[in-house]
Amino acid sequence: MAYDRNNVFARILRKEIPANFVYEDDFAIAFHDLYPKAPVHLLVIPKGEFISFFDFSEKASPELMVGFTKAIHHVIQCFELQKEGFRILSNHGTHGGQEVPHYHVHIFGGRPLGRMIPQEA
Ligand code: AMP
Repeated sequence: MAYDRNNVFARILRKEIPANFVYEDDFAIAFHDLYPKAPVHLLVIPKGEFISFFDFSEKASPELMVGFTKAIHHVIQCFELQKEGFRILSNHGTHGGQEVPHYHVHIFGGRPLGRMIPQEA
């Protein structure tokens, strides 16, 4: 599958459409999810053309992998989510429920988050 340069997060990266930004560095940007599923629901996306974690973990440079991970850490710390706890999550493909085909990590926090996934088999 080819990377779609017109996906919504690619357009946010290029600043063609607005987002509620919370952080940017050489490796990543972070912004509030437009439809939050928790009191804090942030998205962190790497700078580069990566469809999902699977693509990123195959193709990204070690420098970008470290920089992206550190950006996630920084955002967690900015919102002090390490104190009460948080969840990070990344979807891939149809079964993963991925809607936007640019690699992104969700950060959820601000309340107890319950079970990881519904219990259906
Ligand atoms: P996923 O299902 O993992 O691909 O998650 C995509 C997420 O992007 C969803 O939680 C959406 O609410 C969120 N989203 C979609 N469009 C925007 C946007 N323009 N700005 C911020 N978040 C968005």
